[in-house]
Amino acid sequence: MALSRKLARLEKYATAIGYKIIPGKENACIPESKVITVNTRQKVIKRIWMIAHEIGHAVTIKKCIKEIGRRALTGANHEWPALEAELRAWRVTDKIIRTLKVYDEAYLKYKHSCIRSYYRS
Ligand SMILES: [Zn+2]
Repeated sequence: MALSRKLARLEKYATAIGYKIIPGKENACIPESKVITVNTRQKVIKRIWMIAHEIGHAVTIKKCIKEIGRRALTGANHEWPALEAELRAWRVTDKIIRTLKVYDEAYLKYKHSCIRSYYRS
C-alpha cells in the first residue's frame, strides 16, 4: 500500500470518530473543535506517525480530561504533556501503525525519542 493510501485511511479513521484533519504549524489534537492539525512540512511517513498519534489522543483524551481536567492535562499553554495521557495515546498509535503495516524500527525509534523528550525538557 502506498503511503498516500495510508494517509487516506487515517483521514477516514479520523472522520469515523468525528475529527477533521487540517494542515497546521504543529501536530496537535484539539478535542473542543474535534480537529487534528498536522504539520505538512514533515516527511509523509512522519506525518503518518503523527496523525496516528493525534488520533490516539482523540480517542483517549476525553477520559483523561474527566480524570484530571483539561489544564492539568496539557498545562496552561499546552507546553507540558501529561505522561500518562501520552502513553495512552502511544498505545493506540501502536495499534494503528501496526494496522497500516508501518510498524518498524524507524517508527519505534521515533516513538522512543518523543517519549524521552517529554521528561527531558
Ligand atoms: Zn502526544
